[in-house]
Amino acid sequence: MKSPDEFRKGSHELGRALSSPITVELEVTSRCNNLCQFCYNVWDKNHKSHHDTNMTVILDRLREADVKMLFFTGGEPLLRKDIFELIEYARTCKMKTCVVTNGTLLTEEKAQMLHHLNTSVQVSLHGTEKTHDVLAGVPGAYRKAVKGLQELAEHRVPTNINLALTRLNFKELSHVDEVAQSLKASLSMTRLVLTGRCADRTLQFNSQNISELMDFLLHCDVKRASIQSPFPLCCLGDEGIPSMLEIYQKFDVVGCQGGITWCAVSPQGTVRTCGAMGKEEGDLKKVSLRTIWSTSDFIWKCRTFSHVPQQCCDCGYLSLCTGGCRADAYAASGRTGDPDPLSSW
Ligand code: SF4
Ligand code: SF4
Repeated sequence: MKSPDEFRKGSHELGRALSSPITVELEVTSRCNNLCQFCYNVWDKNHKSHHDTNMTVILDRLREADVKMLFFTGGEPLLRKDIFELIEYARTCKMKTCVVTNGTLLTEEKAQMLHHLNTSVQVSLHGTEKTHDVLAGVPGAYRKAVKGLQELAEHRVPTNINLALTRLNFKELSHVDEVAQSLKASLSMTRLVLTGRCADRTLQFNSQNISELMDFLLHCDVKRASIQSPFPLCCLGDEGIPSMLEIYQKFDVVGCQGGITWCAVSPQGTVRTCGAMGKEEGDLKKVSLRTIWSTSDFIWKCRTFSHVPQQCCDCGYLSLCTGGCRADAYAASGRTGDPDPLSSW
């Protein structure tokens, strides 16, 4: 394992070398036909905006910045009438694309279009039918999502199924894994961040009950899933680090890339370091992405890895856990440099 100093040097080099992010999650609409209890979106807590904005200027900004990978998210991106035109435009700009959807609006025709556009798709599945419908806030959402997944499989669209881990659904991971295996989809999990509708904390793990989840992950027979956001390696205290290292290895845990290689853009064109982060760094309707990348204080801290608390800077595990989640720290205290609320100190 690299020493903290070696890691900071490597991160400095990567962060400093990039004049713009490689990957952008573009929130093309704030509208959604589901009402997920844990929706993280910070820009439209009650989903009051009903008008989609013109994306041409924003897509041009991303093209100028040479973005390589574009996730179309929302809200529900398939609610936009022009979503296929947006994907096509991004493809002509040589960006790889992925549509992040709740799956309920996927039809045979749409799956065919997605296949022709050579895009991948990520569909959220929150557990068994009963749990999914409760968490999605809409009866029948599970059946529609599974039907949509079947259409994607039939049209050979590369698909990932994602489960947002909550206290209500984590034991249903095996069920979601079975669905993913039967449809030849990959499987990932993400951690909740306490923003948007999730801010009431009822579904969230906290420093008191996180051990239930980790014990489950350590012993469950699901082997081919990944975790796309970091749980702090010290979330079970020092004595829990060996178990956490096993979990990191078993689920190929990826550290935070927000503000280093990654950012989010809201339907109005404002830039944040990731979809869950409440802090805004600039407005693409006024300035270029490269300008925001070079002038935002917080992005500069991310790029030079000085955005984590001092305890993390001094920690031998920083290279793996990246200091946990900055968005959750910001949501908890309003300060991006505070400890991750799930860390043990
Ligand atoms: S880097 Fe920070 S959050 Fe991660 S294990 Fe070390 S002290 Fe804990
Ligand atoms: S701050 Fe990092 S870890 Fe947290 S949600 Fe954003 S990208 Fe993921």
